[in-house]
Parts: sequence; C-alpha cells; structure tokens
Amino acid sequence: MCQHSFLAHLDTMCPRIKKSAWGGFDDNQLRLVDTTPKSKVSCLTCQDNKAGAKLLQNTTGRKLMDMFQLLLDRFGPQEWWPGETALEMMIGAIFTQNTNWKNVEKVLKHLKDLHLLSLKGITSLSIPELAEMIRPVGYYNVKAKRLKNLIDFIVDRYDGDLDGLLGEETGVLREGLLSVKGIGPETADSILLYAAGRPIFVIDTYTHRILSRHSMIDDQATYDELQTFFMDHLPDDPDLFNEFHALIVRTGKEYCRRKPLCNECPLNTWGSIPHFS
Ligand code: SF4
Repeated sequence: MCQHSFLAHLDTMCPRIKKSAWGGFDDNQLRLVDTTPKSKVSCLTCQDNKAGAKLLQNTTGRKLMDMFQLLLDRFGPQEWWPGETALEMMIGAIFTQNTNWKNVEKVLKHLKDLHLLSLKGITSLSIPELAEMIRPVGYYNVKAKRLKNLIDFIVDRYDGDLDGLLGEETGVLREGLLSVKGIGPETADSILLYAAGRPIFVIDTYTHRILSRHSMIDDQATYDELQTFFMDHLPDDPDLFNEFHALIVRTGKEYCRRKPLCNECPLNTWGSIPHFS
C-alpha cells in the first residue's frame, strides 16, 4: 500500500485504531495495514461504532462474530473476489459453480488473452463456440448457456450498460438477476455482493452444513431462511459479508467436508458440539 492510500485509509478509521495505527511507515505499520480487512471488521465489535453497539446486544450476532474471528485468526483475509472488473466477477460467479477456482482462472485468462472477456466478445461467440472455450470449468454446455443468458439480459434490458445494471436498487437488481434462466440465488447474491458491493450474505452448501452441524439452524433450513439468519443478526456491512463467506468456503473445503476433520478445524471450540447426520 502506498503512503497516499495509507493516509486515506487512516481517515476512514475509528479514532481508537487510528491512534494505535499511526506512528510512521516502518515494517510494523505496514504489517498493520496488511490486516486492513481484519481491522475494519473489528470495528464492528467496538462500542464506539453504532453498528457494533447494536451487534453487542444480540447473542446470536456475537456468536456469529466469534465464528468469524476464529476463522479470520486461522486463515487471515481471503481477498475475494479475485477479478479486475465487475464483468469478470460476474462471469467468474457463473463459472465457479461445482468447480475449483484454478480452472476458472485459467479460462478467464484464456478469454482475456483472446480479447473476448467483454460483453461484445461474449456476444460474438455462439453457444457451442463459447462452450468449447470454457471446457476446463466443467458443465461447459450449461455454463455457456447461462453466461449467454446473462449477457443477453444486460444487452436487451440495459442496452449493454453494465453500470446501469449494477446501479439498480438492490431488490430490483436481485430480482432482475434471478429472472435470468440458470441464475439461482447463490450466483445472484455473489454478483450482488462481490460485483455490486451490496450488503447481501451469500449462502452455499458449506454455510448450511457448518451451521446445522453446530445446531445453529434447522437441518431443513432453506436458502432464504439461512440468509435471513445471518442478515438479521449482523450489521449490513459488505466488507464483513465478503470476508465471512470467503472464510466459510475455505473452512468447508478444508475441514467441514462430508467426512469432517473436526480435530484440526478452527471451529472445533465454537458454539455447541458438532453433530453429524
Ligand atoms: S468443527 Fe467439525 S463440524 Fe464444525 S465446522 Fe469444523 S469440521 Fe465442521
């Protein structure tokens, strides 16, 4: 981080952190800046912060923040979503379903190298041509159709104006994305959170599995119920939701698998004892 961004960052900080952070640009300070997401999110639990004060009043919210802190302490900031533009993030949100991110990165780079990672570029390809190019992401025929549907939606409804789409009110934007064939709640919410920066909590299989194994939710809880559970108990903060979801995915991939690895998991001391069905 350069000196200018560091100073700009300090201006947005809570006075408590600002006081402890300021003091020069030695290695120590830069290390502190490297933990920006952590520091920023820690503000939520501070009494000087209105959202934080609200959070401290609800037990479930505190429990969720304990979970968040345990994960952040173990894994550190995940720096999601990798992607240079909003369109790249949106395309990544479609490609990443049921595959690992390395395959998605490979395909995004390939499209970028061919100058096809744009509305115009994708529009110029037929579905079979696009499917062939994105083969490494798996389910390539389905994903090619979904991506074309999304691009058609942006072109038809917004005349290709991506900023116009992303500038919509959150409810309108979500409804619009969900109206695209093949875009479900998880993909729509990923776009809302990571491409449009809206305070929407993204739910996935891992979120459901971890919370139900710790008896925080009913095994049969739906996507909407689980999302409401998080959003009702946490402050509306896109940075928090961004980091939290990324940390949950990391935990699910590394530990909370079908056969869980509780002994090594950072959540093995959190909440009620895990149970498995
Ligand atoms: S402690 Fe076990 S059940 Fe809980 S999140 Fe970790 S792996 Fe899953």
